Order: sequence, then C-alpha cells, then structure tokens
Amino acid sequence: MKIICIGRNYAEHAKELNNPLPTEPVFFMKPDTALMTEGAFYIPDFTKNVHYECELVLRIKKVGKHIPEKFALDYVDEIGLGIDFTARDIQDQCKEKGLPWEKAKAFDHSAPLGKQFIPLNKSVENIAFSLEKNGQTVQVGNTRDMIFNFAQIIAFVSQFVTLRTGDYIFTGTPSGVGPVAIGDKLAGYLEGEKMFEFEVK
Ligand code: ZN
Repeated sequence: MKIICIGRNYAEHAKELNNPLPTEPVFFMKPDTALMTEGAFYIPDFTKNVHYECELVLRIKKVGKHIPEKFALDYVDEIGLGIDFTARDIQDQCKEKGLPWEKAKAFDHSAPLGKQFIPLNKSVENIAFSLEKNGQTVQVGNTRDMIFNFAQIIAFVSQFVTLRTGDYIFTGTPSGVGPVAIGDKLAGYLEGEKMFEFEVK
C-alpha cells in the first residue's frame, strides 16, 4: 500500500502559502508507516510547527496504469477523510534549498485516516468536508473548488505510478491550514458525518 498526496489543489490554499497555481497536479508520496488509523497523534520532536491539512482521500480498488480520465472513477472504491500532517518549518527549509519534502511530509503517523468511508455513488463534484480543532471549524472544503478533480488526478498520477488495490490518494487541502499544539482535539466531517477524532499529544 502506498499513499499518494496531491499538493496545491485548492486555489485559496495555494494563495495562503504564496504558491503559484499549478498547471498540472503536484504529487508526492508518504510510506505505509505514515498511516495512522487509531490513537493519538504525537508531535515529533524535530519540528516546532506541525500543520494540519484536512483532505478527502480516495481508496483505490483495482490495479491501473495509464488510466484514461473517463474510466478513472471506476478505480475508486470509496471516499474517506484524513489529514496530511506537515512539518511546515521543515518543508519551508526544503523548499528554500530545492530539496524533496519527505522529511516534512512522510514521517511516521503523518497521515491519520478515518476508518469510515462513504461510497462513491453521489455527485463527486459536490462533496463537502470540514475540520474542527477544539470544537471550532478551521477548514471547510468542497470538491467543486478543486483545481484538478478526482478523475484528472487519477489519470495524471497513473501515467507515472501504477495504482494498486488499497492505495490511498490524498486529494489536497482547502485553505485554513494551521498549527497543532499538545492537547488539541481534531475532528473531521464528511457530508456532515464524523469520520475521525483524535487528540494531539
Ligand atoms: Zn496536503
């Protein structure tokens, strides 16, 4: 199982990090050791600025390579909700030096993922999700605001990387990213239903 993450897929978020709008999807990967499906998130000691990025997550249901856009959704099993935790201070250093982002993005438990998923049987162009930190909504997203939709993401990524059953694709975060601190409680909602809840330690 691998985790593929899309960067800069919501215009407002690209703006808040002073990034230009992409002309093709930006992607990077997290190893399977990044996945966290239960327990608390422990802030690693190598960073002083871990940010949450709440994202819709596609679970892939069959092997595919060079998948045409029009068949791309046939490869999606279900949709879940997760967080792409990012050591923003480390990422800024990597960006400055033109280095890869793995230190900032691929660390252990940097990809919390709710155990619940919803079927892909409704309009994929209008799926709403949100993140609460300590009971306050900090991020609100909707698939209609994505720069690249699910089908475009799958078609693009599968030109380079074979998708396999059980792979996850984190599809990018809307604006409102911010830091977490010890004691914070994060809860993610997909179409109004709570998909995950955990504490930061
Ligand atoms: Zn992200």
